[in-house]
Amino acid sequence: VIDRNKLSRLFMEVYGDSSPPRLFRAPGRVNLIGEHTDYNDGFVLPMAINRETIVAARRRDDRRVRVRSVNINEAAEFDLDTKFNRANGRRLWLNYIEGVARILEERGARLTGADFLIQSDVPEGAGLSSSAALEVSTGLAMLSISNTEVDRVKLALAGQAAEHEYVGAKVGIMDQYIAALAEKQHALLIDCRSLEATTVPVDTSTVSFVICNSRVKHELASSAYNQRRAECERGVELLKNKLPEIRALRDVNASEFEKHEDCLPEIIRRRCRHVITENARTLAAANAFRQSDLQRAGQLMYESHASLDHDYEVSCPELNRLVEIARRVEGVLGARMTGGGFGGCTVNLVENESLDAFREAVTREYYEATDRAPAIYVSEACGGAEEV
Ligand code: ADP
Ligand code: MG
Repeated sequence: VIDRNKLSRLFMEVYGDSSPPRLFRAPGRVNLIGEHTDYNDGFVLPMAINRETIVAARRRDDRRVRVRSVNINEAAEFDLDTKFNRANGRRLWLNYIEGVARILEERGARLTGADFLIQSDVPEGAGLSSSAALEVSTGLAMLSISNTEVDRVKLALAGQAAEHEYVGAKVGIMDQYIAALAEKQHALLIDCRSLEATTVPVDTSTVSFVICNSRVKHELASSAYNQRRAECERGVELLKNKLPEIRALRDVNASEFEKHEDCLPEIIRRRCRHVITENARTLAAANAFRQSDLQRAGQLMYESHASLDHDYEVSCPELNRLVEIARRVEGVLGARMTGGGFGGCTVNLVENESLDAFREAVTREYYEATDRAPAIYVSEACGGAEEV
C-alpha cells in the first residue's frame, strides 16, 4: 500500500513546498474471463485490483511537464509547446505520460504544465496493467489540474492511443477502460465491438480473487499472438462461405459453429471453437456473478482455462501446474490463466475460509514443481481512477 502522506511530503521536497500537491490514482486490473476475444470483436470481463498508481500533481504556469517516478528513481520532462521528438533518447516510460498529454491536446483539451511525482505498487510487466494505470492516472491528473472536464471514456481512449502511437503497443481497450471506469464491488463487461461497458456486481462477501504470478514468460508469446490473430481471420474467411453475414467470430454462435465446423481445417477449427465458446462463457459468467452463483462462475473459469490450453494452445506447463494445484484445494471455485498466455498470471476464485490453505499449497507445490516462488495477490473488486 502506498503511503499517500509520504508521497505528498516527498513531492514537496522534490518540487518545493509552495502548496501541497493533489493526488490522483488509477488501479491495475485482472481479466476474470474472456481471453483472446478482444480482437475477435468479443467480450471481456476485467476487474480493478487493490494495486494502484498514484500521481502527486501540481499545476505550473508554463507548459512544461516535469515527471519523476519513485519506482525507477528517474526524472524526465517535456514541453507541450515543443514537438514530440521520438529520437532524442528518452526513456520509454516517459512516452506513456507524454503520449497521453499530447493525445488529449490533439483531441481538444488545453493543458497547463505540471509537476508530477508518480508511485505505483502495480508490478510492472506482470500482466496486471501497470501501463494503463500509469496512462489513466496521469491523464486524469493533467485534465484535473488544467480545470478540464473529464470524460472517462475519452480518457481511456486517449490512454490506448498513447500506447499505440507513442509506445508502439497495439493494445485493445480493456486495460484503460477498466482503469478509468471501474466501480467498487463490480467487474466490467466490455463489448469490444461497440465499446459499450456494463458494470457487473461481484459478491465478494465470502470469496476473494487471487492472482498467482507464475514468474515465467516464454519467448513464444508475441509470435504466437500474431499467428492466433491470423488463424482467427482465416476462420472468419472460411466460415463466410456458409455464413456470409459474419464480420468476426463474435458473430458466430455455438450451434452455427457446430453446423459448419467441418468446413474448417483442424487447427483453425480449434482456434475458432475457443473464441466462440469463450464469448459464450464470458456472457454466462457475467450472469452468474450477477446472480451470485459463484460455483457457476468458477466452473466457467475452469472451462475457459481448458479451452485456452487445448483449443487455443496458449497455456504452458507452469500455468497448467498453477491451475492443477488450485483445483485440488478445497474451497477453490475456479482457476484459469489470465492474459495473453505462455506465462504471466492465473486468476482464482477462492472462498475466504480457504485462502490460507490455497496460499500454502500454491507456494509449496509450485516451488517444488518449478523451483520458482509464485507471487500471490489477493484482491476484491476495486474502484477506478479518481482524485484521492
Ligand atoms: P504491464 O502493463 O502488464 O504492467 P507493460 O509492458 O504494458 O506491462 O507496461 C510496463 C511499463 O510501463 C514499464 O516498463 C514502464 O515503462 C511503464 N511504467 C508502469 N508503471 C510505471 C511507474 N510507476 N513508473 C515508471 N514507469 C512505469
Ligand atoms: Mg500494459
